[in-house]
Amino acid sequence: MLLPASFTPLWSVPNPSPHGGLWFLFEGGRLLIRASAAEAAALAVPEGDVPPTEVTGTQCVGLLGEIPCWAGRIREEAVPPGCELESLRKLFDCLPDELVAIAGRAFQVLEFERTHRHCGACATPMEVSDEGRARHCPSCGEICYPRIAPAMMVLVTRKGLDGRELLLARGARFGTPIYSALAGFVEPSESLEDCVRREVQEEVGLEVRGLRYFGSECWPFPHSLMVAFLAEYAGGEIHCQEGEITDAQWFPVDRLPNLPHRLSVARRLIDYAVAEALREE
Ligand SMILES: [Zn+2]
Repeated sequence: MLLPASFTPLWSVPNPSPHGGLWFLFEGGRLLIRASAAEAAALAVPEGDVPPTEVTGTQCVGLLGEIPCWAGRIREEAVPPGCELESLRKLFDCLPDELVAIAGRAFQVLEFERTHRHCGACATPMEVSDEGRARHCPSCGEICYPRIAPAMMVLVTRKGLDGRELLLARGARFGTPIYSALAGFVEPSESLEDCVRREVQEEVGLEVRGLRYFGSECWPFPHSLMVAFLAEYAGGEIHCQEGEITDAQWFPVDRLPNLPHRLSVARRLIDYAVAEALREE
């Protein structure tokens, strides 16, 4: 998910007003939306729908054009009539793309606040610093910035008898029966390139070469930065890693299985590789 060009991420805004703006109110991982017209009037504004007293933990998210965006928490019992709570992942198809991306940032801002209330070194309550961007410990000086976990994604391709083929896999943890590129988290001391080679070897037992950077994207479930690559097959037979990959196959570009959602970096990576393969033919 990509933030719109008109959005400025901020940790605080000058002269914040408690009224107006776009409000991204969460209960756990669910966002408050209007039940009737999610696509038009995405989010409930406290002054209209939710009494401000029902909103806790308000955080600044940024400015959409001139409109301040806020994140906050709401209890399930305080959900007003005509509104409902929906998981962020399910909003991909009913909210405008740019609002999904801002909601993703709002969720990460709230998660940072929720998980950094006390110092991890000495357990003293943390204080806000760096204009809201960081938390620091007044006792031992520990400073924390929002956690971002780098992860890599790689789409391996090879030249088959009938044109280019894509290596797509079904992860054991995928909720829906889709095939996607391989992905995994970067480990301490590893470069992204090391991570790509290790994950491909671990998950499907193949060697790769010719890594090409494709793009990157924030993935706020809960705080990943997904960095996507293309790679060329260099050897080995497919062996799926038990517990991680239930199936992996070479697919010709004209016979692809169910693919990830169009808003995901995985899907953009696959679409790019397909277009490139068609140009190659
Ligand atoms: Zn401390």
